[in-house]
Amino acid sequence: MEIRAIMVIGAGQMGSGIAQVAAQSGFSTLLHDISMEAVQKGLLAIRKSLAKFVEKGKLSPEEMEAALARLTPCDDLAAAAECDLAIEAVVENMGVKAKIFRELDRLAPPNAILASNTSSLPITEIAAVTGRPEQVIGMHFMNPVPLMKLVEIIRGLATSDETYEAIEALSRRLGKTTAECRDVPGFISNRVLMVMLNEAIWCLYEGVASAESIDTIMKLGMNHPMGPLTLADLIGLDTVLAILQVLQDGYGDPKYRPCPLLRQYVKAGWLGRKSGRGFYRYA
Ligand code: NAD
Repeated sequence: MEIRAIMVIGAGQMGSGIAQVAAQSGFSTLLHDISMEAVQKGLLAIRKSLAKFVEKGKLSPEEMEAALARLTPCDDLAAAAECDLAIEAVVENMGVKAKIFRELDRLAPPNAILASNTSSLPITEIAAVTGRPEQVIGMHFMNPVPLMKLVEIIRGLATSDETYEAIEALSRRLGKTTAECRDVPGFISNRVLMVMLNEAIWCLYEGVASAESIDTIMKLGMNHPMGPLTLADLIGLDTVLAILQVLQDGYGDPKYRPCPLLRQYVKAGWLGRKSGRGFYRYA
């Protein structure tokens, strides 16, 4: 099937990034969130990101305007009737995602593919709430979406080859490289990454070193582009905690036990970059 129109549900940091890349790649793109205010916030982030590309000479002002013109804001899921592919990027919570997939299944055309950008939740379980589990798939973009090359593709138990191939081809049209992973908690990316982020938070909690030292050691010592605490702040500490909980529940292994300091920060509303404060402060 040919994918022409894409709907992105959730206009936060991931949803707005996905919508930006879809619009830049020539797709008619619907951006949805619970309120028009939230959608407008996402659109503002897209405008800022596109303007940076223009500043750097990587995009012309005309291309920026054309991308913006392909974006349609909406706060009603009924708009799913217009799409060939829906990509869900709302909070990392199974209850919320299941509710959206039930609705999308009812509203989207019968041949539409329903994808989730979940970081860790089982695609099979998400697919099972729909009447079209063979057309449900995990499409895990990396943050920040406009800059990061990878899409980790996760097949649920029932995902068809046709759906997989359509999503692989689409990811390439979005300028991304894909890698396939089985449907296990945290997939590959977050099963491996979260252990490191959590361990860095434990080091801070135990007073082994300052946040700056931990990040400098991992950044310069391992040649990572950013330290683990900076990366946790970028991902969002609520998302990091949610993923660790999925890993702990899924594998039952204490190595995934979230550090109490992480729980405390989330309770305080210190969610990282998006809330202005996490392990570091942001203006
Ligand atoms: P975020 O907090 O920036 O955005 C979430 C958005 O979802 C918010 O705008 C919120 O208003 C919206 N939302 C909540 N409930 C909704 C509903 N019922 N209908 C429509 N919109 C709703 O979070 P994020 O970082 O963009 O993460 C979104 C998803 O992407 C999560 O599943 C997360 O695990 C995954 N993800 C995150 C990262 C990352 O680095 N942050 C990377 C890859 C995948």
